[in-house]
Amino acid sequence: MPAAANPAAPAAASAAALAVPDPGALLAWYDRHRRRLPWRAAPGTQQDPYRVFLSEIMLQQTTVVTVAPYYANFLRRWPTVAALAAAPLEEVLSAWAGLGYYARARNLHACARAVVEHHGGQFPSEEAALLALPGIGPYTAAAIAAIAFERRAAPVDGNWERVVSRLFAVEEALPKARARLRPLAVSLLPAARHGDFAQAMMDLGATICTPRKPACALCPWQSRCAARAGGAPERYPVKAAKAARPTRQGVAFLAVRADGAVLVRSRPPKGLLGGMSEVPSTPWEPGGVALPAAHAPVKASWTALNATVTHVFSHFALELQLWRADLPAGQPAPAGHRWVAPQGFDAEAFPSVMRKILAHAGSTPAPAR
Ligand code: SF4
Repeated sequence: MPAAANPAAPAAASAAALAVPDPGALLAWYDRHRRRLPWRAAPGTQQDPYRVFLSEIMLQQTTVVTVAPYYANFLRRWPTVAALAAAPLEEVLSAWAGLGYYARARNLHACARAVVEHHGGQFPSEEAALLALPGIGPYTAAAIAAIAFERRAAPVDGNWERVVSRLFAVEEALPKARARLRPLAVSLLPAARHGDFAQAMMDLGATICTPRKPACALCPWQSRCAARAGGAPERYPVKAAKAARPTRQGVAFLAVRADGAVLVRSRPPKGLLGGMSEVPSTPWEPGGVALPAAHAPVKASWTALNATVTHVFSHFALELQLWRADLPAGQPAPAGHRWVAPQGFDAEAFPSVMRKILAHAGSTPAPAR
């Protein structure tokens, strides 16, 4: 069937008059070239929904290489969804430290509890029931439904979007184009092997149809791709101009006791880095706050270090100037704060930005697990 017969197909694809990509060609390619990933079951075997769930939550905004050791650690500590549900949230956050986007860790834990409390410890297989679980959005619900339960579902992530936008040369810009890309993605779904197809799309996007320099000569859909036919596949997906990321500034107060302990506190449970451990600081504001000293956690002789820690969050960049005070060994912690010895850093849920700050305390915390 020519692409022009598909009412969802854009004008560019119609003009190219290419045949609709055959899912069988992609599945045959996948059978030969699938990536070996720790969370993937061997060909022909049933995927464990818990493993799919764990890996998909971890992989959001994070690379396969970064996720692999975290995935192994989580699976070793909490091999089932029931074990994860029974774990204290603080331990889960601490094991997550360094992966970023900490709301995902809290949602992971809340979801495990909901699966145990409302589904007897078994993940539901329908997309709609999965969507009702905390922290599971349309992408993750479709991924679990397709990969673990062989449901006909399209987990459209960045890889899918790139491949589909190129196949059909979609000229509309993201994010608005998503409304068009989704039905085009669904139009590609095969009659069977839904789990393999979902993962084949991910692999094609990750290894062949890459953001820069796609290896079209190796692509199983090269003769059906409108972007390739047009000669400029890298032009897709078209993206709307990004708003500039604002910068916020502040001062972080590094209070170090004579025995090496550092003063820390916990962030509020909701919001950015919710529930994580942190070095006290001023509020983070564009331009910084007017009187940083007023926010110091203890009265002390504070010295501005010649050091600024920077970190980029999804919606703003942060610059924290470091102030340091050295305090006697017996100094008590003010209300809401606690002293943590360097050997206790690893048990705390310090996000990456706080680990950068602690590196200036005189001893470097262990790298994030
Ligand atoms: S032919 Fe090239 S641009 Fe088109 S889907 Fe394949 S790798 Fe991507």
